[in-house]
Amino acid sequence: MTEQEQNTYDHFLAELETLVNTDSATENKDGVADVAEILKKRLEDLGLEAKITFEGKDRTPCLKACTASKNGRFDFMFLGHMDTVFPTGEAAKRPFSTKDGHGLGPGVSDMKGGLLVALYVVEQLKERGLLDKIAICIAFNGDEEIGSPDSRPWIEKTSENCDRVFVFEPCRLEFRHVLHRKGGGRVKITAKGISSHAGADPEKGANALVELASHIPSIHALNDLDGDITAQCTVIRSGEKTNIIPDEAVLDVDVRVGTKEEMKIVENFFNELPNKNYVENTSIEITGGVDRPPMEYTDKTVELWNVLAEEGRKLGLDPAYISTGGCSDGNWTAARGITTIDGMGTVGANSHREDEYTELKSIIPAITMITNTCIKTVLGD
Ligand SMILES: [Zn+2]
Repeated sequence: MTEQEQNTYDHFLAELETLVNTDSATENKDGVADVAEILKKRLEDLGLEAKITFEGKDRTPCLKACTASKNGRFDFMFLGHMDTVFPTGEAAKRPFSTKDGHGLGPGVSDMKGGLLVALYVVEQLKERGLLDKIAICIAFNGDEEIGSPDSRPWIEKTSENCDRVFVFEPCRLEFRHVLHRKGGGRVKITAKGISSHAGADPEKGANALVELASHIPSIHALNDLDGDITAQCTVIRSGEKTNIIPDEAVLDVDVRVGTKEEMKIVENFFNELPNKNYVENTSIEITGGVDRPPMEYTDKTVELWNVLAEEGRKLGLDPAYISTGGCSDGNWTAARGITTIDGMGTVGANSHREDEYTELKSIIPAITMITNTCIKTVLGD
């Protein structure tokens, strides 16, 4: 590392320690707001116009910080989340530490390290005098870990004016970025029937559980289609007493899809389900569905990633891209047709677990690679 890089690294680590040691479970709105305040101050010092708003019914803190726009548009949106899955008190129990080249602590990689990479890219651009040539809009929300119910409209609206989106979720080991994520959701199937004494009057009943269970094989068969569809029947509830025919049964299905076409296939399947009937005098009702669209990539995404990979190779890295089943806020922006690359944070693993870690040696390369990619993409060689 050069002296300047060492300086940047030391500062980064000190700030990472502060962020990791600030508890910010999704439901801990004060903690999330504390993280937002720390970052807001830093971004204001870099000359960005920053604002914290409280979105949705649970008033989730969200931080937006922008450079000057280009006629209302931004070259990049830097998207990240300030919340973690860890309960309040976790940071006191296992505060930020380093061991064997790893940074440890709650949310160190998912994604407090990523938030700082975004911030340091802005700082690098400023130091090179380029912040008036490359327009960046930072959007950090506070409820990603529960599916962004409060911040989704805010993210979608903010992304409207942005040409490209970088999502700062952890980079996978050996600099694997995420270009594709499955979409998904929960389908709830409720069967209604007629209750009756199981022994004395079975002919007067209509067994909702039997009706519901009869649909399971066809739902499970969705898994056999070619492609990325999964449909797993996971929770079933019905009946209260052994001697009463149940008049209601409820099934939860976890559904994932790889493409918009697959999303349609699954939607059509469940829309048709009430038309199939196995047990007389019963009916089926469907609620929920695929509410998170898949994050699909286009030629433009690959083109942008190729710039990133080339900048990575100049640093001696060997980047590649992957697909993953889990969702992120990148699903919202990609579904709106905006070129989106995820996994722009520090390299890390074991998210949502106590042994979560980030690779300290990835910090400087991640910042440099993304900074250079922004420059090359917007300003050329
Ligand atoms: Zn995350």
